[in-house]
Amino acid sequence: MGFRSPADKALAALLAAQGIIPTPKNSHASKDYTLSTVKRILVTGGAGFLGSHLCERLVEAGHDVICADNFFTSQKENIAHLLARPNFELIRHDMTQPLIVEVDEIYNLACPAAPGHYQYNPIKTMKTSVLGAIHVLGIAKRCRAKVLQASTSEIYGDPEVHPQKESYRGAVNPIGPRACYDEGKRAAETLFFDYRRMHKLNIRVVRIFNTYGPRMHPFDGRVVSNFIRQALGGEEITLFGDGSQTRSFCYRDDMVEGILRMMNGPDDFSGPVNLGNPNEFTIRQLADLVLELTGSKSRLVQKPLPADDPVRRQPDISLARQKLGWAPKLPLREGLEKTIAWFRSINLSRFRPPTPNY
Ligand code: NAD
Ligand code: UDP
Repeated sequence: MGFRSPADKALAALLAAQGIIPTPKNSHASKDYTLSTVKRILVTGGAGFLGSHLCERLVEAGHDVICADNFFTSQKENIAHLLARPNFELIRHDMTQPLIVEVDEIYNLACPAAPGHYQYNPIKTMKTSVLGAIHVLGIAKRCRAKVLQASTSEIYGDPEVHPQKESYRGAVNPIGPRACYDEGKRAAETLFFDYRRMHKLNIRVVRIFNTYGPRMHPFDGRVVSNFIRQALGGEEITLFGDGSQTRSFCYRDDMVEGILRMMNGPDDFSGPVNLGNPNEFTIRQLADLVLELTGSKSRLVQKPLPADDPVRRQPDISLARQKLGWAPKLPLREGLEKTIAWFRSINLSRFRPPTPNY
C-alpha cells in the first residue's frame, strides 16, 4: 500500500507512531514511491489534444493519473499508448454528471475548444463548463485537492485592449454564437474564485491562448488544422474575411509546460494567468507560412467572417514570466513544421466528426 496524499501521509505517520506499520522511511511504500512527490491526479478531458499530452507528462513523472473523458472531440488513439501503464487509468465519463474519485490534484480540461465543436451543441457546451466546474470543485472540496481550470483567451471576447492583460475584463457578446463557450468559461472562473473565497480551496486558473500541434483534431475547423489539411490535400485555403485579423499561436509542449508550472507554482498565486505565445500573426501570414512549409500550390479563397470573430488577439504574458518563470520557446515556423509532419503521418479517415446526442 502506498501512502501518497497529504492525508495518507498523516495517517501513515500516526499508524507508524503507534507501531502498527513501519515508519514510512523504512516501509516498502517508501521504496516504491517518492512519498513527497507522487500524487493521484485527475485530468478531465484527458484524452483531448492538450489533455493527452498533459497525461503523458504526468504519467512519465510517475504520478497516478486518472483520465476522465467522454470522447466528444477526441479519439482513444490519443491515450492508447498510456493504457498499459500501471499508473494510468481511463474512465469514460461525461463531466456534466458527478464523478466520485479520491485525488490530490485535478486539471479540469473537459470542454470542446474549437468553435465548430463547441457550437455543435451550445447548451451542452455551457453545461460542460458550468456543471463540469461544479463537479471538479466538489471533488476538490471533499478531498482538499488542488484544482486547476483550463480557461481561455475567449473570456476577453473581441478585446478593446491590446495586448490582453489579466486585469482586462473583456468584451463578450453574451447572446452570440460564441457565448456558450466564452460565458461558460467565465462562469467557471467565477465558480473557482467563489470556492476559493468560501471554502479556501487551493485553485489555479490559466487562460489559454490559441494552441496548436500534433494530435489536434484535423477536422476541428480551427485555422491551423484547416490550413494544413487543405494545403496538404491541394484544396483551397479558406481565409475568413480578408485575413487581416490576428492570433498568437502557442506550440502544445510550451503550453503543457505552462499548465504544469501553474499547478506547481506558489500557493499564494491562483491566477488567472495568461498562457500563450505573444508573437502575433495575421491569418493571411499564417496561410502564407503554411503554403511555404508544405510546398503546396493551393490558392487562397476568401469566405465570410464568422459572427463575433475577434479582430486581434495577443497575450501579455508578463505575469506568467514573473510568477512562473515561464515563456514559450518554440517559434511558429518550427512548431508548424512538427505539426505538418504529424498531419502527413495520419490517416484522416480515422478521425470522426462530433456525434449526435452530445
Ligand atoms: P480538445 O477538444 O482536444 O479536448 C477537450 C477534451 O474534453 C476532449 O477529449 C473531449 O472529448 C473532452 N470533453 C468534452 N466535453 C466533455 C464532457 N462533457 N465530459 C468529459 N469530457 C469532455 O481541446 P483542447 O484543445 O485539448 O482543449 C483542452 C482545454 O483547453 C479545453 O478546456 C479548452 O477550452 C481549453 N483551451 C484550449 C485552447 C486551444 O487553443 N487548444 C485555447 C483555450 C482554451
Ligand atoms: N479562420 C480562417 N479560416 C479557417 C478557419 C479559421 O480564416 O478555415 C480564422 C477565423 O475566422 C479566426 C482565426 O482564423 O479569425 C482563428 O480561428 P480559430 O477557429 O482557429 O480560433 P479562434 O477564433 O477561436 O481564435
